[in-house]
Amino acid sequence: MAAGDGAILLLKGLTKIFAGHRAVDAIDLQIREGEMFTIVGPSGSGKTTLLRMLAGMETPTSGDIILRGQRINDIPANRRPTCMVFQSLALFPHKDVGDNIEFSLKIRGVPKAERKQRALELMRLLRLPDHYYDRAVTRISGGERQRVALARALAFDPEILFFDEPLSALDYKLRKTLEKELKDIHRETKKTFVYITHSLEEAMVMSDRIGVMRDGRLVQIGTPQEIYTEPNSKFVSEFVGDVNVLSVSVLPSGKLKAAQIPHEMVAPATMNGVKSAGFLVVRPEFLRFLDAPGDADNHVVGRLYNEYALGSRIQYQVRVGELVFVLEKLRHEAFAGGLDQEVLIGWDAVNTIVVPDR
Ligand code: ATP
Repeated sequence: MAAGDGAILLLKGLTKIFAGHRAVDAIDLQIREGEMFTIVGPSGSGKTTLLRMLAGMETPTSGDIILRGQRINDIPANRRPTCMVFQSLALFPHKDVGDNIEFSLKIRGVPKAERKQRALELMRLLRLPDHYYDRAVTRISGGERQRVALARALAFDPEILFFDEPLSALDYKLRKTLEKELKDIHRETKKTFVYITHSLEEAMVMSDRIGVMRDGRLVQIGTPQEIYTEPNSKFVSEFVGDVNVLSVSVLPSGKLKAAQIPHEMVAPATMNGVKSAGFLVVRPEFLRFLDAPGDADNHVVGRLYNEYALGSRIQYQVRVGELVFVLEKLRHEAFAGGLDQEVLIGWDAVNTIVVPDR
């Protein structure tokens, strides 16, 4: 296949420069047929600009966008077999649910009866009751409006759906529900979904693969599991939730040394090419309270100074000089002691990695 193995969309050196600023910088990427690919990154990293180029709403400065082997750089958005799903705010407020869903079919000249049948099919797929067909979009809830926005995008059967932070305006509980529903709809429709968000948590729940963006570049691409357990840089490791990141040097013996910790530490197998200095990454769930120093490969003495309930888990903060270590335990494994007491904490090397400062 010209577009690469199983790829529906191929990006080659895709670049967008705004007044000398490289908003998207030489991106190479293959998006696979039927996958849910999420682009995450902090504000200003270039996610929206990249998505707008893919959807035909922005012209690349250089590079190519290839859909099923055909270069589509110069094809306008309305002539591409793709569709952008925005926040529900982009619905027509004065039209009812049915008219909103059927909009793209109407401009393509599909007869009314056929349009209505398709709208009702999509409403059922998206778990919207049939009688909403005639209801004004202003008289349904935020979550329902988001489903209507998705039904409208699916109406003309696009090959790829692009999502521009569609859930960001919704409250936490509704967002969590819709994340799962969107994943179900992805599975049911078998379409290719490309999604952008600044929330890695959201990306983790829904995606087959994630691309992490920084300063216009994709710095890591992988499954949610790979991004979480094998980040390739300090930037990616810190982007993925709470984490302990310790500046370390590599000793000639192969052990690690941190300025604030008196003992040498056992190094992990995964060093990501770090030879002399880098950062040790220990996730909060792999740190534990010890009874004796020998109970883990590495240990450190600190003072327990904070404890937060996170629902099913409890987070502890332990101060070691200037450093703060974060530990997380399930509620039934809660630490028995109280705040302000000296504690021994530790971790096994196998549960850690070393990353470079990129
Ligand atoms: P956010 O999460 O805040 O939406 P983002 O990752 O989507 O951010 P972009 O909106 O793609 O980032 O912006 C990337 C960079 O390009 C930013 O520095 C932004 O200021 C700049 N930029 C975006 N659009 C334009 C434009 N039309 N003209 C000039 N600069 C722009």
